Amino acid sequence: MKKAEMVIQTSLRKGGTDPIFKIAGEAEKRVKEFGPEAVINSTIGALMDDNGELVTFKAVYDTLKSLPNNMIANYSGLAGQPEFLEKIVDACFKAYKPEGFIRAVATPGGTGAIRHAFCNYTELGDAILLTDWRWSAYETIADDNHRKIATFPLYNEKGGFNLEGYKKSVLELLQKQKRVLTVLNTPAHNPTGYTISNEEWKEIKAFIIETAEAQPESKIILLVDLAYIDFAGKADEARKFMKILTGMPHNVLTLYAYTCSKSYTMYGLRNGAIICVAPTAEIATEFANSCTYSNRGNWSNGTRGAMETITRIFSDEELYNQAMAEQSFYKCILRRRADAFVEEANKIGLKMVTYCDGFFISLPCDHPKEVSDRLMEKNTFVVPLGKGLRFAPCAVSEEKCRRAPQLILQAMKEV
Ligand code: PLP
Repeated sequence: MKKAEMVIQTSLRKGGTDPIFKIAGEAEKRVKEFGPEAVINSTIGALMDDNGELVTFKAVYDTLKSLPNNMIANYSGLAGQPEFLEKIVDACFKAYKPEGFIRAVATPGGTGAIRHAFCNYTELGDAILLTDWRWSAYETIADDNHRKIATFPLYNEKGGFNLEGYKKSVLELLQKQKRVLTVLNTPAHNPTGYTISNEEWKEIKAFIIETAEAQPESKIILLVDLAYIDFAGKADEARKFMKILTGMPHNVLTLYAYTCSKSYTMYGLRNGAIICVAPTAEIATEFANSCTYSNRGNWSNGTRGAMETITRIFSDEELYNQAMAEQSFYKCILRRRADAFVEEANKIGLKMVTYCDGFFISLPCDHPKEVSDRLMEKNTFVVPLGKGLRFAPCAVSEEKCRRAPQLILQAMKEV
């Protein structure tokens, strides 16, 4: 490791562009050169229309633009505007609000919520439990805050949730650290699209309760990252598991990272919340105090105009229905695109890990970087990961989703 010049040694970082942005940049160049029809750019982690333009909900942006300037410009309360905090809890749970002591603190997107969970519920140097297939930013957030990570394989041999691996890792970390924070990104996991089923949740819950009761001095924190929940399952049924995750012992805390980035196309507006479902009022108050303090110490407060927009949408039936109609319109488009990809992949024998819902599909392979490079030669852009490739139906048309599996399989054979 190079010696730092002025930054402290642990803050020495490699420069250069994130590889995803580099590939995306190349894809854009090809679009200019050969036209949009000739290029399949599935590198983007945002919902794009069939012409490759970022989708924005009219209900959201008409509301935002109707706000008085001094409301958009103003600071918000440190914990978030009180009305927004009520509405974001509604947005998170909808009809599946669990029993327990619920508090919310506004954060700049899901990233802020994840940061607060890592920093307030693990000790410096502790390892946070993640799955092997995962969003790479978890590692950055952990590392930037002097935490480590531990991982377990997401899938069992049947392509379901690997409960045995999860149990083993939780017990090992508890033995070492006396507390464990596990991150489960579900429904519609990034990068695989896996959704933990309600049956699997019941098993996870039974294990957590059994462990917490056997080790009353230990602390178990379940962080559920909901980044893609509004694009999963039929209507709001993907929220059913929230009702399962209640009635936990005093030493178990359930946290939800909720974000408006994907659900309300507010990516750059940085709007979300960390929400607790605590077994006691004291634990909930402690949560709200520590996360509010963390807001002050990191970014002070959130984006007022974005909070007001969500507050208005959730306070006005007509506006709410309009936003939901737009959300479900694009949810259907995403479903059709993913179905087209999966159907074609199955037809030609392109291997995928279990996909259920959401923005991404993962294809396991041995030399992801080489396969991705080969695909670039065919004007097809996918993200190489440690264990395979990530294809993003959120970003390409149904027709291209149908075309892509053959190109990917061919490139795998060529490498
Ligand atoms: N969690 C996962 C798995 C994600 O993929 C993302 C965004 O890409 C986030 C959380 C949080 O995003 P944001 O901070 O924009 O809300």
